[in-house]
Amino acid sequence: VIDIGTPDTATVTTCAYCGVGCSFRAEMRGDELVRMIPQKEGKANRGHSCVKGRFAYGYAHHKDRITKPMIREKITDPWREVSWEEAIQYTASEFKRIQAKYGKSSVGGITSSRCTNEETFLVQKLIRAGFGNNNVDTCARVCHSPTGYGLKTTYGESAGTQDFDSVEETDVILVIGANPTDGHPVFASRMKKRLRQGAKLIVIDPRKTDLVKSPNVMADYHLPLRPGTNVAVVTALGHVIVTEGLVNEDFVRERCEWDEFQDWARFVADPRHSPEEVEKISGVPADLIRKAARLYATGGNAAIYYGLGVTEHSQGSTTVMAIANLAMATGNIGRKGVGVNPLRGQNNVQGSCDMGSFPHELPGYRHVSDTATMELFESLWGRPLLDEPGLRIPNMIDAALDGSFKGIYIQGEDILQSDPNTQHMAAGLAAMECVVVQDLFLVETANYAHVFLPGSTFLEKNGTFTNAERRIQRVRKVMAPMNGYEDWEITQMLSNALGYPMHYDHPAQIMDEIARLTPTFTGVSYEKLDELGSVQWPCNDEAPEGTPVMHTETFTRGKGKFVVTEYVATDEKTGPRFPLLLTTGRILSQYNVGAQTRRTENVVWHDQDVLEIHPFDAENRGVRDGDWVKIASRTGETTLRALITERVAPGVVYTTFHHPTTQVNVVTTEFSDWATNCPEYKVTAVQVSASNGP
Ligand code: SF4
Repeated sequence: VIDIGTPDTATVTTCAYCGVGCSFRAEMRGDELVRMIPQKEGKANRGHSCVKGRFAYGYAHHKDRITKPMIREKITDPWREVSWEEAIQYTASEFKRIQAKYGKSSVGGITSSRCTNEETFLVQKLIRAGFGNNNVDTCARVCHSPTGYGLKTTYGESAGTQDFDSVEETDVILVIGANPTDGHPVFASRMKKRLRQGAKLIVIDPRKTDLVKSPNVMADYHLPLRPGTNVAVVTALGHVIVTEGLVNEDFVRERCEWDEFQDWARFVADPRHSPEEVEKISGVPADLIRKAARLYATGGNAAIYYGLGVTEHSQGSTTVMAIANLAMATGNIGRKGVGVNPLRGQNNVQGSCDMGSFPHELPGYRHVSDTATMELFESLWGRPLLDEPGLRIPNMIDAALDGSFKGIYIQGEDILQSDPNTQHMAAGLAAMECVVVQDLFLVETANYAHVFLPGSTFLEKNGTFTNAERRIQRVRKVMAPMNGYEDWEITQMLSNALGYPMHYDHPAQIMDEIARLTPTFTGVSYEKLDELGSVQWPCNDEAPEGTPVMHTETFTRGKGKFVVTEYVATDEKTGPRFPLLLTTGRILSQYNVGAQTRRTENVVWHDQDVLEIHPFDAENRGVRDGDWVKIASRTGETTLRALITERVAPGVVYTTFHHPTTQVNVVTTEFSDWATNCPEYKVTAVQVSASNGP
């Protein structure tokens, strides 16, 4: 505990880093935030925190913060500081000019999963009602959009099924494509506690993550699959469950579509999906696949937790559905201790999806072609809305290169660093006539911006975040915004200038509107959040205090839907020129593109991305630990230091994407999930060679 004496003020708010959603008391002395104390009452963290939430708030006052709006006519011009009035009027006039010249659909926007539900809701409202199109997307495009697609298709709801507490009643934990120790540290601790109490652990991951073997835990089975073969391995688990008679037939008959189950069962039972056949594709020993399947199906309450190692593939949505099939086939859904749980990366990625940030869905995941829903929104918003899906982020960039998409409003997302194929993204941004970036810092994307609108941090605003367990929690203003405005106020000013008036005085009013329009939120209000601390949606008349576990009696869609999940190898192939497979992830002390964590003083910060490489592959290339190496792929190349380790298997290399100096996404491919366009960050064929440095 840091002794700071008595603070002047203490405000309870929610961490703005990962999807765990830890609750903190932010203590101020004068104008300075001096301490963050994790709250025992916080239902997501119960008094715990990780290093980021506890100590990484220094970015809020970093010298790099931009606090004045800026404009430039050409991206080669120097920035010119202007008043808010001028910045907003200029932006609105540019968007109007572009729409008059190129058509209504020539502009769009990106919401932020770092911002609040209310701010996200307003951005998509501005785009749908103010711009008059559905060209709105969010960072979930590049992380959990396959979760939305896969879980909606199979269960009827685009969200994880359980609360975090559920892990305390789990007997078998299956972690696939996730590294909770680094990505979701506080929840990882709860998982490890349960493991120490005797729960069993299966890890499916190309790397030996901390969960596979660490001083605290050791996985019962680690299935070290070749990157890109998730569907084959999960389908093989289904093969064992079906062919060895481990299906929970009572559950399936009562709760699922029986004909579709039979189709799936016939499919997985085919000998080509046997562990022995799948071993040839995935490299996972057949014996391990069999043992893992038996443990999952017969070990008691079994819960699946997964991350971006599942979604960021050309078959990301297929893998999510394959996982959902397993849970239904074994009856591991609809009660405490079981379920299918996406570990969401960003603090409010669940919320940004819930709030209608997708081009095909209004808030509450209702398709824009749903007439009754559209009429409800049109009557409240007072504008006709387009009933056809708009453009996804990659489509916007392609359209910009085709000359039909000319202006974009980006709230709190650094798409140039975080999205794949950096060169393509840069060319698309450069082709636009008005790029508006609303952010804390001059992030990489701002290099292509014509307008910079300074944003506010989570400490400077009121609102709500929704964590990975669908828990809606209050974000409370701890200090005044350095830029003068909360992000929702900036969107409101822009909307007013565009001629679509908004008149909110406080985010609570925005939440009231969300509740009126969204069946899963009808019971949510700031009064209730203040009274209960938090609620998990659905929160409505049927569940006035929220829903910790979903699909208990029936699935949201009625009967659960099995989907045949055929494995299709990625188009990204290794070969003599690019013999290794690169996969990417993150580390505990950094956060995504590092815009915040790199601007926070702390001795544990890693100051560079490194390339993990197996000793065998390093020796073959004459690379020693700490040497510079060049990674080259079909799309680009970059240089970084080597870290020789057996955490990765021979043939696989791994790095993080936290530093703009590395820009690892210059290397990643153009391939993406067939259903959602989520990029295939996790599989890139590369060559690694010794280098003299950048
Ligand atoms: Fe913040 Fe996530 Fe760490 Fe909790 S676990 S303090 S939400 S970064």
